[in-house]
Amino acid sequence: MKIILLGPPGSGKGTVSERLEKDFNLAHVSAGELLREEVKKDTAIGRDIKKFMEKGNLVPNRFVVEMVKLEVNGKDNYILDGFPRSVEQAKLIEGLGIDLVISLEVPEQIVIERFAGRRVCGTGEHGYHLKYLPPKKEGVCDYDGTKLVQRKDDNPEVIKERFRIYHAETQPLVDYYKKKGILKTVDGAPAPEVVYAAVKKIVKTFKK
Ligand code: AMP
Repeated sequence: MKIILLGPPGSGKGTVSERLEKDFNLAHVSAGELLREEVKKDTAIGRDIKKFMEKGNLVPNRFVVEMVKLEVNGKDNYILDGFPRSVEQAKLIEGLGIDLVISLEVPEQIVIERFAGRRVCGTGEHGYHLKYLPPKKEGVCDYDGTKLVQRKDDNPEVIKERFRIYHAETQPLVDYYKKKGILKTVDGAPAPEVVYAAVKKIVKTFKK
């Protein structure tokens, strides 16, 4: 089963993906995470990618599309988190045969409030929120014990740009997949458990 998770920055795509990964044994493929890993390696490509990410801009397709395609190559069960982010990218992955697209809908005001408390573990794999999704032990990841930090691109200026890009480039994907008849929307505003319950129901129903 191949799923795409759509939604604005801070809509909970990462949290939902982590849970789907466990419950349905799907690989969690996060484009942002793949890109951050490349930046961490400090390669020539990584340094190029960093410039786009720091500003909240989309990383050019020549870097990101191949990276994601390589990651899903040979897999039949996965969630694409944060990819595609434009109609152009969606067209470039037509051949993958996506089964289901879930769009998390959250008003911008709520998402902006969420950013202040957003934290990620040292490996970048597990996301938390100080108020809505706190770790068991303050400041430490439940899974790998690394220290929780704030993502560099979670600052107000960069967030503003990420939203601008979302509206201009990513939102048109909602219509694109609606027309294909594979889109489901979920209210992403409630607590993480409530949002996930709705997503889980859709995936379960789809699998039957
Ligand atoms: P995320 O972790 O999904 O919030 O992504 C963080 C950043 O990575 C974005 O602000 C972009 O700079 C970059 N990025 C993630 N996914 C994509 C994509 N599909 N296309 C281009 N850039 C991306």
